[in-house]
Amino acid sequence: MKVAIRDDDTSYFTTPEALDRVYGDVWDRIPVCLAVVPFAIGYEQRGIPPEHWHSGESFALDRNPALVSFLRELIGSKRVTIALHGCTHQDYPNGYEFHAAPDLPDRVLRGGAVVPPGNATALANALERYLAQPDRARAAGTHNRLKASAEFSWRGSALQLLDVYRRVIDSRRGEQRASA
Ligand SMILES: [Zn+2]
Repeated sequence: MKVAIRDDDTSYFTTPEALDRVYGDVWDRIPVCLAVVPFAIGYEQRGIPPEHWHSGESFALDRNPALVSFLRELIGSKRVTIALHGCTHQDYPNGYEFHAAPDLPDRVLRGGAVVPPGNATALANALERYLAQPDRARAAGTHNRLKASAEFSWRGSALQLLDVYRRVIDSRRGEQRASA
């Protein structure tokens, strides 16, 4: 049997303790996909203080540094993967955010910019957008730091290589059992 766990709505309002309470005895066996809201506005949800429910204020994830460093650790130890779950999680009269928001491409790219290789103009435009929007630049920086420390650090690379060794050893064991 194969099992995948995905949990929506990790955001500025989430505490490391809450994640640990729910998944602490699970994520060493089954990695959990946390679908994160990077700029959550206060929407009606248990766990978000009611005074924020309709304030319209958006809370960037990096305003909760304890959570950001906890997520970084969890990614590094392969206990969680991160997915993008909306941008602000704002509901519209005619649908959910990623269904009804007018500026959808911009909302997706607030976590980072995608530029075609070799296209200097596109790169210059992307850099200009960051310079004009310091909040967005900070948010992208947080996201990219998380990604770099999880995937491209020496520790991250070593963990990925260890995984390859483990898979090879496991498949050799399987072959030996099959031929025994
Ligand atoms: Zn949600």
